[in-house]
Amino acid sequence: MLAQLSERGRLLDLETGMRGARLASYAAVAITLAVLGRWIGWLPLVFVAVLAVAYELLIRGRLENSEHPERLVAAGFVLNVLAIGLGAVVTGGPKSPLLPWLVMPIVSLAGRHDGRGVWTGTGFVVVVLALVTFTEPAVFAEEPARVLAVLPLVVSICLFSVAMMRAERRQRDASALDALTGLLNRRSLEDRFAELAEQARLSGDAVALLAIDVDHFKSINDTYGHARGDTVLHEIAAAIRAQLRSFELAYRVGGEEFLVVLPGVDVAQASDVGERLRAGLEALRPDGVAVTVSVGVSAGRGEGVRFERLYGEADDALYAAKRGGRNRVLTAEAAAKLTVAA
Ligand code: GH3
Ligand code: MG
Ligand code: MG
Repeated sequence: MLAQLSERGRLLDLETGMRGARLASYAAVAITLAVLGRWIGWLPLVFVAVLAVAYELLIRGRLENSEHPERLVAAGFVLNVLAIGLGAVVTGGPKSPLLPWLVMPIVSLAGRHDGRGVWTGTGFVVVVLALVTFTEPAVFAEEPARVLAVLPLVVSICLFSVAMMRAERRQRDASALDALTGLLNRRSLEDRFAELAEQARLSGDAVALLAIDVDHFKSINDTYGHARGDTVLHEIAAAIRAQLRSFELAYRVGGEEFLVVLPGVDVAQASDVGERLRAGLEALRPDGVAVTVSVGVSAGRGEGVRFERLYGEADDALYAAKRGGRNRVLTAEAAAKLTVAA
């Protein structure tokens, strides 16, 4: 879930970053086809124009608010390959000068899809190349060089793209910060907590956790769109961070779930911090949207500072707060009493 969501942010970011390159590439293709028109005909230029308009209308405009932008991006790739394939068919099939252009969309796959996605896309390009060839088998038999010359290009661009994408991804995975909110991410949580637990064991100090989950966030997305939902999350995260002291830690541990670690704080003080955060977020109206959060509180002292236990208790308390009607703070102890009573 977590990986999927950060993938989404990354995909949208890439789309924005690649926009200039895509437009320049369309322009280069269009100018070339306009110059070549008197020799190869005007149909390929028409295909490119239709493709550019279709991409902007059907894909680009919908990306931001789509729950599955990767599907739209894949559809865009298929459109691109088909348009180039058609252009090749009407300009000589297996001896079309446009055949090498089939490689262009492969480059744009890297970074938007995983390695398997790039391979699948490359497979699709090879299939289209084969189909273009079969439109005129006799021509291919006589002059196979143009088609065959494209194959190593396809293979090497695919391999290089996957290799570069993996290298970039390794670097990103080493980051301790969440890309959307700038808070710490889960990767850095357990190591940091282990240090705190060791310190608490030696000093007998307390450590408290606040598990914070945005209430009915799904309906915020449904009402205002995913992009606005992202802004709301960003502002909530900034408000949480702003309320804490420098040595207190705020993590984004799930889509709309945050974890605050309060060293040296017992359960009563942590409850107060939780209540202050809850009230602050209710008053915040991030991006003009009314939001509330539910908060589960747990704390331990000395040997009792263990991540699994405290996180489990905070999470149970959080879900008791949700069941109790949301927009409230509940401690693990109070939640356990409620459960016993129920
Ligand atoms: P509850 O009060 O029970 O927590 O309800 P909820 O709707 O908040 O909970 P649920 O877990 O059903 O839905 C969480 C939603 O959060 C679903 C998902 O689409 C959305 N979400 C998760 N991560 C992100 C994100 O990074 N950006 C946006 N815009 N939405 C996200
Ligand atoms: Mg949740
Ligand atoms: Mg929620």
